[in-house]
Amino acid sequence: MENNYQVLLYYKYVPIDDPETFSIEHLDYCKELGLRGRILVAHEGLNGTVSGTVEQTTQYMEDLRKDPRFSDIEFKIDESDGHAFKKMHVRHRDEIVSFRLEEDIDPNELTGNYLSPKEFYEKMHQENTIIIDARNDYEYDLGHFRGAIRPDINAFRELPDWIEEHKEELEGKEILTYCTGGIRCEKFSGWLKNKGFENVNQLHGGIVSYGKDEEVQGKLWDGQCYVFDERISVPINQEEHVVVGRDHFDGEPCERYVNCASPECNDQILCSEENEHKYLRGCSPECRVDPENRYIVEHSMNQEEWEERLNEIGESLKQRV
Ligand SMILES: [Zn+2]
Repeated sequence: MENNYQVLLYYKYVPIDDPETFSIEHLDYCKELGLRGRILVAHEGLNGTVSGTVEQTTQYMEDLRKDPRFSDIEFKIDESDGHAFKKMHVRHRDEIVSFRLEEDIDPNELTGNYLSPKEFYEKMHQENTIIIDARNDYEYDLGHFRGAIRPDINAFRELPDWIEEHKEELEGKEILTYCTGGIRCEKFSGWLKNKGFENVNQLHGGIVSYGKDEEVQGKLWDGQCYVFDERISVPINQEEHVVVGRDHFDGEPCERYVNCASPECNDQILCSEENEHKYLRGCSPECRVDPENRYIVEHSMNQEEWEERLNEIGESLKQRV
């Protein structure tokens, strides 16, 4: 059948001398192969997610491993019934994950202790451990390890302050960090060690590998795992499904992400189909009266209809500033 597709998730911290040329050539190669996805290339390495048929993706893995720099690269493979991306992009960046830490970390020199899914699972049960989620707030909100804490920060450069404020909670504890595929923890755990925390561990292969591990089967994961492609989320816990996501508008359990209809805002919000219509897919009163509101455009609503719908929730176009 033609619908045998795969999604590959992979990264490797390894020096790439001329990331710009590498990007251009790699893009040509990926396009020729028929892949779609997003790949970032920097002096420090490669980070990618691509989709394609089993044949195309298998060829890609074989070819990439022929390059001595990537001979031991690990691929997380998901089956799929189609492409997970619309286009193929290969971009040259300063970092393969944007951290912008003041003192950069080379994970090949300094990083946390790698834990297999089973080791991670076992350590989660121990009393002296603290689990830190190394991802963004909207990823955590859809799903996370039970009991994990999410640093309340908007960007990694705010991390030093957060650590300073939570020093007491962390001191003397065995720290466990995790992220989607493991790439963010490589630096995050190294950074924690650099800050003087001695007992720092990271989930090897990330949440995605944890969900595939035959022994642990995703246990102690609640919700879904956010992914950066058209699937938006993938299941992890094979044993039980506890919904932790909450609807932006009414707080009901919800795992459906949409982007706010205001192009300027575009924030991702969890909301039911019903509330999407009720609130014109606007996350705030300002977004609901945005003249560019995409919901209004998509539903070809005129001003009168718009006003009528707003009145139903006690709002009005007159609120527009
Ligand atoms: Zn908004």
